[in-house]
Amino acid sequence: MIIIMETGARSEQTQRVIDFLENNGFKVRYNIGEVHTVIDALGDKTTITPGRIAAFDGVKEVKLIREPFRLASRDRKNEDTVIEFENGVKIGGNNKPVVIAGPCSVEDSYDALLEVANAVKESGGQFLRGGAFKPRTSPYDFQGYEEKALKYLKNASEATGLLTVSEIMDATELPLMMDYIDVLQIGARNMQNFKLLKAVGQCNKPVILKRGLASTIREFLLAAEHIMYNGNNKVILCERGIRSFDSDFTRNVMDIASIPVIRKYSHLPIIVDPSHGTGQRYLIEPMAKAGLVVGASGVMIEVHNDPENALSDGKQSLPIPMFKDVMGRLNKFMENIENM
Ligand code: PEP
Ligand code: MN
Repeated sequence: MIIIMETGARSEQTQRVIDFLENNGFKVRYNIGEVHTVIDALGDKTTITPGRIAAFDGVKEVKLIREPFRLASRDRKNEDTVIEFENGVKIGGNNKPVVIAGPCSVEDSYDALLEVANAVKESGGQFLRGGAFKPRTSPYDFQGYEEKALKYLKNASEATGLLTVSEIMDATELPLMMDYIDVLQIGARNMQNFKLLKAVGQCNKPVILKRGLASTIREFLLAAEHIMYNGNNKVILCERGIRSFDSDFTRNVMDIASIPVIRKYSHLPIIVDPSHGTGQRYLIEPMAKAGLVVGASGVMIEVHNDPENALSDGKQSLPIPMFKDVMGRLNKFMENIENM
């Protein structure tokens, strides 16, 4: 790391920083200029974090040369992580992008879920999504059908051959999820629920980690790092839009640039969720394409058999006929991207 001392920092302040670093095994070089002093320290940042150095009097700024997300970083592993499922489906690298689609919430009708699942399967999708434990902004909104929903998902998976994705909100749900679900989802609201990240890190299921409502790319990758640090490398990132000042026309601001940025700095696959990213049905197709063009390894789309009566996120869900049309075009689009 590079430590920049305040202009006019006293030499004893600089010396205290140097002594501290050297006593902790860092190799230190420094340059005392007429105005600025810069310290260059090489050593183990897991014991001495930049925050500890920043706390010393006279320190202006501490800069890391390497990104703090080590396991998720391309510095550590340059080749793309590919997550492979028993049925041969692969996410990441140069594989064809995957489609994860289904209702926001699994509702109280297995037939309705199966209708959506059949449409996903027929349209070439690989994963059926559906919420069983729902993180709702209001306690008065529908909270999910929990185990009943998980059972419906598993049955629909057996009927169609689709893999399943569902959100986990609390570590206590893990045993149930392990039985019923193929991919765990950590929602935007829980991106920095560190105990949950640790719990899913200690299991071996693939995890879709959604970007927090107001998190930076670095925070996003550090959240992935928590999962990997605890032993689970099967992390799929998901750009689902972030908060900004303009929510007149879209629910969130979809940060399209985060996709190539993440691909540059991390080997983990990243998918795009234009349903939550925009909150608008008509924006799903163009924003899915935009995500794919810049390197997303998959798309997540909300689909409902009757969006006007959906228990959650109807406005950003495609009705089944529209989903089939969109998928017809997305499949062609994905083939063209492969050849680009
Ligand atoms: C969802 O996938 O239905 C969901 C709640 O997503 P997010 O966490 O991105 O809001
Ligand atoms: Mn939703």
